[in-house]
This record gives sequence, structure tokens and C-alpha cells, in this order.
Amino acid sequence: MQKKIDRGRRFLTENNQMFRCPICQEGVNATANGLVCQNNHRFDLSKKGTLYFLSHAVKTEYDQTMFAPRRRMIQSGMYQPVIELLAEYLPKQASVLDVGCGEGSFLNELAQLQTLEKAVGFDISKEGVYAATDQAVNAFWCVADLTNLPFGDQQFTTILNIFSPSHYQEFQRVLSDDGEVLKIVPQENYLKELRQAFYPDRPEKQHYSNERVVAKFAESMELTKRRRVTYEFVIPEQNRQDLLAMSPLEWQVEEPIKAQLYKEPLKKITIDIELLKGNKRKRLQ
Ligand SMILES: [Zn+2]
Repeated sequence: MQKKIDRGRRFLTENNQMFRCPICQEGVNATANGLVCQNNHRFDLSKKGTLYFLSHAVKTEYDQTMFAPRRRMIQSGMYQPVIELLAEYLPKQASVLDVGCGEGSFLNELAQLQTLEKAVGFDISKEGVYAATDQAVNAFWCVADLTNLPFGDQQFTTILNIFSPSHYQEFQRVLSDDGEVLKIVPQENYLKELRQAFYPDRPEKQHYSNERVVAKFAESMELTKRRRVTYEFVIPEQNRQDLLAMSPLEWQVEEPIKAQLYKEPLKKITIDIELLKGNKRKRLQ
């Protein structure tokens, strides 16, 4: 099997025109170790074949310990209907950018259902991106800043934005003219059992509305489709602790509540999401 770093190097040699320098915005060339721009800013491949485009270290909400349970939950089938919904809207031979890819499971699962021309995933977490290199999908992974993407204009036909933040100006820039964003956002009953268990006495924490997120999307993209999917997932016994460990909600939970939940974890969970499909606007409003 080809080593990860050789796979990364090969991708850069063949696709260097896809990237641009995030420091000076100039084009880049492939080197033996990564990329270099016309102003000599260098980005070297890690041993895992990933690139690091951040100019300074960033603290993220996710740490290493959350990626393994997240991967196990996705593999358990918890999001299978969501993945199938995405595959339905993902054009064949798409050039895909997965924004906030985490440990890469969603992109990996989608690549089993649809033939992709190109697949690139990035996240702000280095640990997530390293973990993503273990996925079977033939993709390039990098650490990058959502607000300053290291890609040239019009390089992707599809942006995947699955439970992750958005930056529509950058999305518009890197999308081809007929490109589109597929965004998955929680709906009001998403993980409601978890919210209720975490915050039994705080109803304000139990409720969630995606109204503002949807409004922002519709302002920034040409909203062409909304699809809501709701179901109850019976959590396999061996994954019940994973659900608790993968969730960022966990941090603000009081210790006794958390301890109790680990002793008696949830047996089922509601998934309630919406797919937003948005075409590129010809001109930003
Ligand atoms: Zn540069």
C-alpha cells in the first residue's frame, strides 16, 4: 500500500493549481515536501500526508478524545439516513470540499455511495485531520481556517457543511459557477433526549431553533431545497457511552448528572435534521 505521505505528495503534484497561499493569496507550486507560493511561503506535508495552513495554533472545542467516539457512532449507523439523504443530492463526479470534516467519517461514508471526482476535507483540528487519514476514501486532508481557505477560486462543485460552521463569502469564492452547498443543520428535536438528560432543570437549554442559521443561509446562497428528516435511533449497547463522549454539549454538564448518565446511558436518541441545498449566487448581495 502506498504510504500516506506519498499519497499526499502525489495529490499535490497533480492538483497544486487547486490551492492558493493563505498568507499572500498567490498561487502555489508543488515541491518534494509540499507546496510553496511565489513569495516563498512553504507548507510541508506531515508524515500522514496532510498540510497545515494555519498561521497560529487554534484552540478548538473538540479534542482528540471526542473523535474516536464520534467515528464509532457514525459507523454504528446513527446517521445513515442523513448520509443517504446527502448522497441523493450529491452529483456524480462532484469535486467535493468537506468543511469541518472532523475525523472524516461522513465524507468516507458518502464516497461509498457516490463516485466523486475529487475529495478534500479540512478541519481546524489537527487531531481530527490526522484521524481522517485512516479513512478508506481517497481524499486529501488539511488543517485550515474556514475564513481564509487555502484554495483558489471556483475549485469545487460541492461544499459539504455537515453540523459545522459556515463562511459564505469563502464558499462563494471557491465554488464553481454551477456549484452548490449541502448543509446539514439540527432541527428542534435533534438529540432531545440528551438535552433533557443533561439539563433537567433548564428548559431554555433543552430547546433549539435553527431559524437564524437557515435565514443566514438563505441570505447568502440561493436556497433551492429544504428537506427535514426525523427518526429515532436505537443505540447499540456498545455505543451508548460513545454518544455521551462525542457531544460538545457535555462540557457544561454538571458532574453528578454526567456520572449518572454514564451509569445509565440512553438507549435511544432522536435525530432531527434539515438538509439545506443552496446554489451559488452569481453575485453576493
Ligand atoms: Zn504566500
